[in-house]
Amino acid sequence: MNASEIRKKWLAFFESKGHKIEASASLVPHNDPSLLWINAGMAPLKPYFDGRVKPDNPRIANSQKCIRTNDIENVGKTKRHHTFFEMLGNFSIGDYFKEETIKWAWEFLTDKKWIGFDPDRLSVTVYPEDEEAFKLWNEVIGLPEERIYKLEENFWDIGEGPCGPCTEIFYDRGEKYGDLSDPECWPGGENERFLEVWNLVFSQFNHNKDGSYTPLPNKNIDTGAGLERFASILQDVDSNFDTDLFLPIINRTCQLAGVTYHHNAEHDVALKVIADHIRTVVFSVGDGVMPSNEGRGYIIRRLLRRAVRYGKSLGVDRPFLHELTPVVGEVMGVYYPEVVEKKEFIERVIRTEEERFHETLSDGLVLLSQLAEQAKQSGSAVIGGDDAFKLYDTYGFPFDLTEDYAAEHGMTVDRDGFDAAMEAQRERARAARQDTGSMNVQGGPLADITDKSEFVGYNELVTDCEIKA
Ligand code: ATP
Ligand code: MG
Ligand code: MG
Ligand code: MG
Repeated sequence: MNASEIRKKWLAFFESKGHKIEASASLVPHNDPSLLWINAGMAPLKPYFDGRVKPDNPRIANSQKCIRTNDIENVGKTKRHHTFFEMLGNFSIGDYFKEETIKWAWEFLTDKKWIGFDPDRLSVTVYPEDEEAFKLWNEVIGLPEERIYKLEENFWDIGEGPCGPCTEIFYDRGEKYGDLSDPECWPGGENERFLEVWNLVFSQFNHNKDGSYTPLPNKNIDTGAGLERFASILQDVDSNFDTDLFLPIINRTCQLAGVTYHHNAEHDVALKVIADHIRTVVFSVGDGVMPSNEGRGYIIRRLLRRAVRYGKSLGVDRPFLHELTPVVGEVMGVYYPEVVEKKEFIERVIRTEEERFHETLSDGLVLLSQLAEQAKQSGSAVIGGDDAFKLYDTYGFPFDLTEDYAAEHGMTVDRDGFDAAMEAQRERARAARQDTGSMNVQGGPLADITDKSEFVGYNELVTDCEIKA
């Protein structure tokens, strides 16, 4: 089943259960200064959840474009993380609650008419005190006790405001990924034998100012499932990157670089990172984010530069990322026409930015050779940490390239000095940071959102939001 069919089935299934289908919102949050990017399906629906707006229909489903920059280090290392991905969601605003949510999730996952997973491969986690959820899985669905794992972490609580337990669904990819005697192989462990596919959040309590919890009169449901993860299972491949959502991009990159996928582990990481980052950049530029030196624009600039450097590791020394734009359009255009309609514009923005970075790199090299010369003349074989940091911070010249250059010239770089300069910079950024306050809405994939999501300046390509589940 291709990804587009999975998306269609999701929407058709929830439509058949009385949900109103909402189109994906922009990646750029609307009227929400607490959030840098839309990072969960529920994020653009917050006004319904906190009661500011009453929806026409209390049942909503969507497929939402999401960006999670805090997963950047996972990209290419795990089989399941992206910086840009699509979250499939179904939501109840004070309407149905646990029983329907669990029953429908099971029906969608296991009925051959929908996606038809083998039910024996599914396990779930629940919050230990959520006996209701345990019973529903065990008695109503018939899931054996040993496939219901109790996890303390399955509670969404962000301080004062709505909160509640969640239950997550995992797909067992089988013994070849590890043995069940190892707890890391269990749902929630580090091993990817059990792939988390879907998180169902039950917002049922209010966390009061005095620390007590009282039941909410209007309970909400917020769920999120990863389209790319469903695709990897249904296409019976090893990772999200081997699905029809990514392969065309990877194949085109292979052509441009003259390399082969699945031949060399380092190349594979580079190919995955490039495929990931180009999707993020194409979609963000499509939603109006331009590369720049601050906020979202800076994240896009950093992602693009990172992709250029991974391109270099594949031996590509010329601007090439823009040539992947039409491929992203071919893969994603069915549901997101904007990436096709704005193709020329997006391509031009990426090309200009790539060219600028190539210039930065050559300017940086000129400066670096002068610094190296000065160091040598003063009898040192070390490039100073402050100099390396200045190159990085002011000129965008990456530290590891400075190290490579030094090594090629029989020198070293003062890493501790660089780290200290970086830390000092972070401290300055922290001090300057504004506290955006807590959102006081329920948790779930939304705990991302409700936690402070801050831009920490120019050193880190992450937002500070903690993804707790
Ligand atoms: P994981 O534990 O795998 O990092 P999560 O618990 O952080 O996932 P949730 O916040 O529960 O994820 O989001 C709901 C669903 O969205 C997940 O079950 C998963 O299917 C999908 N998802 C979350 N983060 C990513 C990501 N970075 N890339 C792809 N899919 C994701
Ligand atoms: Mg996560
Ligand atoms: Mg989760
Ligand atoms: Mg998780």
